Amino acid sequence: MRRSYLTAAPADYEAGAVSIEHSGWPPQERLATYGPLCDDAQADVVVIGAGLAGASLTLHLAERGMSVVTLEARQPGNGASGRNAGHVQTFLDDLDALRSWGDRASRFVAFFIEHRDIVFDLCKRHGIDGDAAKTGMVEAAYRPQAALARKAAQWKAFGYDVDVVTTPALRDLLGTEKYHYGLHWREGGHVNPFLFTHGMVAAAVRLGARVYGDSPVIACQPEGRRWRVRTETGSVLAQRVVICTNGHVGNTFFPELSRTNFPLVACAMATEPLPAALLDVVNPARVAMTHYPTGLYPWVVDGRNRLVTATIPHPGRAHDAKTYFGYFLRHLHRLYPQTRDVKIELGAYWTGMTASSSSVYHADFPKLYEVDDGVLALMNLGTWGNVMGPQLGMSLAHALASDCLDKCVLPLETPQPVSFPRLFELKTRHLMIPAARIIDRLQLA
Ligand SMILES: Cc1cc2nc3c(=O)[nH]c(=O)nc-3n(C[C@H](O)[C@H](O)[C@H](O)COP(=O)(O)OP(=O)(O)OC[C@H]3O[C@@H](n4cnc5c(N)ncnc54)[C@H](O)[C@@H]3O)c2cc1C
Repeated sequence: MRRSYLTAAPADYEAGAVSIEHSGWPPQERLATYGPLCDDAQADVVVIGAGLAGASLTLHLAERGMSVVTLEARQPGNGASGRNAGHVQTFLDDLDALRSWGDRASRFVAFFIEHRDIVFDLCKRHGIDGDAAKTGMVEAAYRPQAALARKAAQWKAFGYDVDVVTTPALRDLLGTEKYHYGLHWREGGHVNPFLFTHGMVAAAVRLGARVYGDSPVIACQPEGRRWRVRTETGSVLAQRVVICTNGHVGNTFFPELSRTNFPLVACAMATEPLPAALLDVVNPARVAMTHYPTGLYPWVVDGRNRLVTATIPHPGRAHDAKTYFGYFLRHLHRLYPQTRDVKIELGAYWTGMTASSSSVYHADFPKLYEVDDGVLALMNLGTWGNVMGPQLGMSLAHALASDCLDKCVLPLETPQPVSFPRLFELKTRHLMIPAARIIDRLQLA
């Protein structure tokens, strides 16, 4: 069989570290690369890491006229941000989990709602060609779900354009009569997260930010009232340092940060481009799809007419592209029996790491840590990165520019190690996802 997708060593898939070329998102033409830091510089703020969080922070600091240097170990978007599934989800799954935030919860939710279109807004404002499309989202279920009805009522009250839909509307949206209940969010959609992250960085550079690639930070030390951030070939002296390194894996400066989250490898894949006629069958409205309640096989149709989806691999089997693509195809065949005779080929398969602040999916919210005096970390974005990364980068930039951290919508916390960080992975890969696959196959929920 012809294989068009790239392969790598199993250990690289397991570590979420296959090269970014494996991801389905980088375009054919090469984007700008950023050279390494080769001297000693100064700045108001040093940002470490150029994923969705660091790129947005850099852009919004530059927009506010702050002097900012961003140091990225590889190139922008080479971490989780260039490897995700492209869903732009503009609502939150569970607000109850925010109760412990007290007064901050309502401020955070109001901010999230106000800026829910940030992906589309930033693309428009900065001319970012991120293949962002506001095609809406559907959470589709096999049978009525009281929790979905409550969710629709709650978010409608917030001003969202969302409705409970049943079989006829779902057939029009999704082209299948297998689903009988769901929510149609006429907001959100999809984005190419790699292009979007690159686009934010390019916009920041146009506004005066200095961005260096291939510049892993190896040390961060106090020098008077400032911090010296070092790479192998240079350094930056700054009043403020913001660490945006996701799970902080492998970093020896402030190593306590790598114990603040539950890491989990996720795999994603894209089909070869499909004919428009076939897409009109499997997703006529081109909405971003999620299956409720299992959350399995979230998928989007991207600008290259490919289906892009993600899942969690079996323990030790993250490299097994054929198995997960097979699951996805069988899921499609169950929903669209007419696709059984159509050739749908795998075009790209890759993995990436998520870093979650909670082992309970709905309670997993990003964190802003005060690591030391003048050193912050904005990280542990879990599976919320496409909207929350840009939002929180913007909020933190606003707070830093006004020299008032209380203006950031995230509470400022001290890094705390989580208990049994590997337990989450064991639970998810051994139990929850395999059980969800059985539930889906038998249409039990
Ligand atoms: C398979 C998969 C599917 C997903 N699907 C979705 C989805 O559909 N929708 C959604 O909203 N979210 C999704 N997510 C989650 C989302 O991708 C993440 O929440 C988001 O990318 C995190 O962004 P970040 O900027 O915090 O981290 P990253 O993008 O990982 O960026 C961190 C950066 O820090 C750099 N770095 C690390 N150490 C150093 C150092 N010492 N010096 C300099 N730089 C350093 C890394 O190279 C990296 O570029 C998914 C994630 C995965 C893995």
